[in-house]
Amino acid sequence: MSLIELDGISKKYLTGQVETEALKQISVSIEKGKLVTFVGPSGSGKTTLLNIIGCMDKPSSGEVRVTGTRVDTLGKKEAAHFRGEHLGFIFQSFNLIPVLSVYENIEYPLLMITRTPAAERRERVMAVLEAVGMADQKDKRPDQISGGQKQRVAVARALVTNPEVVLADEPTANLDHDTAHKIIDLMKKMRDTYGTTFVFSTHDPRIVEHADVVHGIEDGMLRDGNPLVQGGNDHA
Ligand code: ADP
Ligand code: ADP
Repeated sequence: MSLIELDGISKKYLTGQVETEALKQISVSIEKGKLVTFVGPSGSGKTTLLNIIGCMDKPSSGEVRVTGTRVDTLGKKEAAHFRGEHLGFIFQSFNLIPVLSVYENIEYPLLMITRTPAAERRERVMAVLEAVGMADQKDKRPDQISGGQKQRVAVARALVTNPEVVLADEPTANLDHDTAHKIIDLMKKMRDTYGTTFVFSTHDPRIVEHADVVHGIEDGMLRDGNPLVQGGNDHA
């Protein structure tokens, strides 16, 4: 069984009288321990797809399984619990808490979601701080660091709970070449060390070429092959 399975996913949004079909019968399987990317133009459905895999939104039809759990039928509370236990998120806007230090932002999920004991929290926070090269900036607030550094903090925060799946919407958008590479290297390291699975959207050729699996998405459909069977070019 695959780590993530989408079976006949459709998503319709209704805005006034206008219906938008953001996803059309998407079926795809994602294997554990891969860097998997969805590549497509703006409006093609990437964010909607990531939100559905991340239990932030529900499909209009179809079934979603993540780490063996049917997630599209979970209630709000169960979905929140599932996210805390199994998933990490890297948001495009970073979503860092302005009044907390870099250290405290990264510690936050351990404190609020998984209730990790203090000694282990410190160990884990320091480990991911080192991994993203931000240990020497740990006492600064988000407004005292650059955009690329904020992104590294956001990545560290997504990884600190050691989630099975990390979801990221354009994780290297607005990053310079070196920083984008550091983010990718970090993902590969987590993949190789812990078998973490990364699912992300991107336009960025620097990151596409490092992905294990690339799925094209266009107008809510997987672009290559028969989307009902399996989309994508396997670069593994
Ligand atoms: P991408 O991430 O590839 O830019 P999105 O998933 O954000 O694509 O959007 C896919 C389509 O669904 C677009 O046509 C977009 O306008 C529409 N859409 C996305 N979110 C909403 C929403 N909350 N309400 C109405 N339409 C939406
Ligand atoms: P507790 O109060 O539960 O014993 P700690 O002693 O680990 O927790 O830390 C207290 C608080 O101090 C933490 O919640 C964290 O915000 C901050 N803190 C801990 N270690 C560091 C560190 N190395 N650098 C910066 N802040 C830290």
